[in-house]
Amino acid sequence: MEKTARDRLIALAREAAAKAHAPYSRFHVGCAVLARDGSVVTGANMENACYRLGLCAEQSALSAAQHAFGLAEITHVVVAGGPMSDGAIGGTDVITPCGGCRQAIAEAASLSGRDIVVISASATGGEVLEMTISQLLPAGFGADVLPGV
Ligand SMILES: [Zn+2]
Repeated sequence: MEKTARDRLIALAREAAAKAHAPYSRFHVGCAVLARDGSVVTGANMENACYRLGLCAEQSALSAAQHAFGLAEITHVVVAGGPMSDGAIGGTDVITPCGGCRQAIAEAASLSGRDIVVISASATGGEVLEMTISQLLPAGFGADVLPGV
């Protein structure tokens, strides 16, 4: 992916992060999911007073992707975020998907038959890590080992 396209997706993920519902952790994460035809959907983390019910940005965006164009169409998942302070998201740490979200991305990769590219960025977008889901989740569990699936 060329840098301009990547930067656009990172910008969309950062915009999504600004819309997160994260009053407890104040850690805002946004995600942009790109489809083969260029369609993009976004999502952000959504916390709950019952903490364990919180939803990650990636899962939020993957759900939107399923409804917009289907998980099998996904080529890239882009994540950005950081702590919210004084109305802006800051931090230079690259935000990578948690283990559960890696599993969810792997499900989409399994459906699509392609190794989805995961682009992880800092809140400012200045630091970027690009890896595939098989690199982020080596030897992962998948539907291929379920009998009859
Ligand atoms: Zn997650």
